[in-house]
Amino acid sequence: MANIAFIGLGNMGGPMAINLAKAGHNVCVFDLSADAVAHVVEAGATTKANAIECVQGAQFVISMLPAGKHVDAVYLTEKSGLINYIEPGCLVIDSSTIDAATSCKVAKALTEKGICFVDAPVSGGVGGAVAGTLSFMVGGSAKEFEQAKPILDAMGKNIFHAGEHGAGQIAKVCNNMLLSVLMVGTSEALQLGLANGLDPKVLSNIMSNSSGSNWTLDVYNPCPEVMENVPSSNDYQGGFMVDLMAKDLGLATETALASQSSTPMGTLARSLYAMHAASGNGNKDFSSIFNMFNKK
Ligand code: NAD
Repeated sequence: MANIAFIGLGNMGGPMAINLAKAGHNVCVFDLSADAVAHVVEAGATTKANAIECVQGAQFVISMLPAGKHVDAVYLTEKSGLINYIEPGCLVIDSSTIDAATSCKVAKALTEKGICFVDAPVSGGVGGAVAGTLSFMVGGSAKEFEQAKPILDAMGKNIFHAGEHGAGQIAKVCNNMLLSVLMVGTSEALQLGLANGLDPKVLSNIMSNSSGSNWTLDVYNPCPEVMENVPSSNDYQGGFMVDLMAKDLGLATETALASQSSTPMGTLARSLYAMHAASGNGNKDFSSIFNMFNKK
């Protein structure tokens, strides 16, 4: 069993750290929120006064932080950055969803000190984090991937090697950009059917068994009462927040600009999600974009 330091115990990081402790690893956790730390310690982890003490002697350091600026600050800040305290040979796994440029910057700085790194953003949301069924998209060398895999196996179901450092982040933004486009398309198609007198359950069944079939229609239907146990049938509570989708679409736009890629559908989806968030829907599930096309 490994000595693991885990930094960032929010909606995702908390249950991920708990799953590592349940799998028998020695997990030392830290978060700026004392409540978040207490919750994970109750479930079997230990803690220290700060992140610096947590990483000392750790074979793995895992971070699950909000954005690139947090990851940069936690690892690279002069003097207090964890880069100064993590031991050579340790593997850093950053599972935050951030821009690939920051991932590559952190990877380069750590590698120069003999510390290994993978970016390993996740898909599967809070439900997947709790159930230990996340998908991990990993960027790093083949050796680093093999080193990370047994640890990621305790938190996820599908562990993909996307390519070198930064590739995990690129795979994540591509996936979420496509997801947003599919959600918008499914929403407008269902609303078109509703506006023309169709029963959304009947229409969903027809399209799910025809060429319009896709995950947002078949598994995560955005129209209330078509499916049970999805956010649309629970007033769009739970699930994947509009604010987080808007953040990921911002990363997709930056990635497209940096590589001179044309992403017209992703750009439109970004604009629609920004408008939806600005209308007070930031805390709702991203399938609530369905209401934007409601004629009533
Ligand atoms: P969150 O805001 O719930 O948790 C972030 C945690 O980081 C907070 O507890 C905060 O106190 C802590 N933190 C911030 N700065 C810190 C520091 N310097 N030291 C220690 N702790 C610090 O966010 P989340 O929903 O858990 O998401 C984390 C990451 O996962 C984000 O990058 C997000 O985009 C990504 N993600 C989230 C979901 C989801 O459904 N929530 C799904 C996939 C990916």
